[in-house]
Amino acid sequence: MRILIVEDEPDFLRTVAQFLREDGYAVDAAPDGEEGLYKAQETEYDAIVLDAMLPYIDGFELLRQLRLKKKTPVLMLTARARVRDRIQGLDTGADDYLAKPVDLGELAARLRALIRRAHGNAAPVIHVDDVEIDTAARSVTLRGEPVVLTAREYALLEFLTLNRGRIITRTQLYEHLHDENDTPISNLVDVHIFNLRKKLGAEFIATHRGQGYSIG
Ligand code: CA
Repeated sequence: MRILIVEDEPDFLRTVAQFLREDGYAVDAAPDGEEGLYKAQETEYDAIVLDAMLPYIDGFELLRQLRLKKKTPVLMLTARARVRDRIQGLDTGADDYLAKPVDLGELAARLRALIRRAHGNAAPVIHVDDVEIDTAARSVTLRGEPVVLTAREYALLEFLTLNRGRIITRTQLYEHLHDENDTPISNLVDVHIFNLRKKLGAEFIATHRGQGYSIG
């Protein structure tokens, strides 16, 4: 899952980015509204964390322009005292908001919920055959037994699961698993798929030759 954070306070931006990366997300950053809008339009993010008050283009205007083209889930960050900002954010097309100062655990939970809902899953636990994926706990079991996955393996599994029944191309996997700071290694997706099959069964992920992969 790949997240864009648009935030002009460098310390807060770094803290949020690091927290989400430790959770296995790929994270891109933009320090102002102009760069944020550009990136939001150019890349297929799974969700965007958008500060309301930003240089050049504020969060509301960014959102208004983004919504002309894209439905990317947006979590808006507003000042606690300003109810007006929250209303304006939601009315402009934000999917959720959080008042500053934010609790990072709550921010991550709200992002998970937004991403699930964007894929039509309100419930956090998803079953595919004998595999249970708990997107809240970020844990996986096979026939009731815990399966240990790396952060990237989990991210790949979650992305395929939320898109189950659809063929996902290698390009899409790269775009959703790597951020702008990564140097993607060309065979990394194959390695993760290989490991997931070893852990969850060879049949669990289908290969569609020349097209991509699918689950379910
Ligand atoms: Ca700000």
